[in-house]
Amino acid sequence: MDNRVPRVKSEDYKKEDDSEDWTAYRKARIENGEICHVCQCDFIIFPKGRKWKCGDCKRLEEDQGEVTSRKFVRCPKCGLQWDPYHSEEYDLFEDGDHDSSCECGCDFRVSTNVTHAFTSPPRIQEEGGKEPEEDEAEE
Ligand SMILES: [Zn+2]
Ligand SMILES: [Zn+2]
Repeated sequence: MDNRVPRVKSEDYKKEDDSEDWTAYRKARIENGEICHVCQCDFIIFPKGRKWKCGDCKRLEEDQGEVTSRKFVRCPKCGLQWDPYHSEEYDLFEDGDHDSSCECGCDFRVSTNVTHAFTSPPRIQEEGGKEPEEDEAEE
């Protein structure tokens, strides 16, 4: 198991004033395959020792079917990918279906699925019960 590629250490990337050089560090991590070279996510578990794309970015490029990505929207026509955050399509960050369009002129729908959350109903107040013990509950 010792043929693993060692991780890049941030200590090795310092500027002259001894502060961390995050740009150089990130670049080294990309070259070492620790983070995706497209979206720069760090869902890569083991360094690959070379530039590497995460599963999401691979699918965006290779999968001809419907694709889900944490970061990019893909045009169904020309395949262009973009980060909705940088295009200011902020409504794409809300749950549900949204209209989007590509610079190639293709209009399409994007479906957003924000992370799951459980919404429980409000607490039921007992009738004729004791005074609510607010002092205990609050801080
Ligand atoms: Zn990626
Ligand atoms: Zn397009």
